[in-house]
Amino acid sequence: MRRTLIAGNWKMNGSLAANDVLLAGLKQGVGDDLVDVAVCVPAPYLAQCAAALQGTSIRLGAQDVSTSVSGAYTGEVSGAMLQDFGCRYVIVGHSERRSYHGETSAVVARKALAALAAGLTPIVCVGETLDERDAERTAAVVGAQLDAVLDAVAATDLAKLVIAYEPVWAIGTGKTATPQMAQAVHAVLRARLAARDAEAASQVQILYGGSMKPDNAADLLAMADIDGGLIGGAALKAADFNAIIAAARQ
Ligand code: PEP
Repeated sequence: MRRTLIAGNWKMNGSLAANDVLLAGLKQGVGDDLVDVAVCVPAPYLAQCAAALQGTSIRLGAQDVSTSVSGAYTGEVSGAMLQDFGCRYVIVGHSERRSYHGETSAVVARKALAALAAGLTPIVCVGETLDERDAERTAAVVGAQLDAVLDAVAATDLAKLVIAYEPVWAIGTGKTATPQMAQAVHAVLRARLAARDAEAASQVQILYGGSMKPDNAADLLAMADIDGGLIGGAALKAADFNAIIAAARQ
């Protein structure tokens, strides 16, 4: 039985003061073990968030990791550094990094490997653009993005991955894939995993991301292969994020 994971992606938002308020609100929304909850925060706030979340069940995550272990890579943050701050998760391959920072699927695969090597769980994002969907290339695009990671990861590590299906056209746009559209892609991704290892495929959490909100979360999370959400905008308001967690409990 897969647990549900609700993970917030704060992106480049927050301040010391605003984070304190948000984290205090999030702490009121958790309290049982039915749903896994995580926040993926900007790197400069890892220490603040790690301290604030100590003793709670909310897990800490980062939004990116270097492909390298250490050395002359100005501006990069290594997996070991994220471990130092108690991170459990790191997002890799978010569409914003693919499009604004030129990250190829090969780079994303190396980041997933770097995360695993540091004992972190990579949340591997895949997703198609609107043009690709309109051209009926969704399965091919997300399949190729996933395969790049599956080709790189050791068979024994497949079950350690978290996958996030994030249609690019739904991120931050207010447009959401219908539960049926999302489920269809999640099923493709799980089948792709199962082609490598059926047992691992049954264990891997596949999250949906793309304008998930309190009013659409329950319907999306009710689908058989949707095991949680990667939440952007709605993760910045404690009431909304807590409402999504509440929907996941049902
Ligand atoms: C995201 O950036 O991962 C995301 C899903 O954003 P939003 O929920 O704002 O669409």
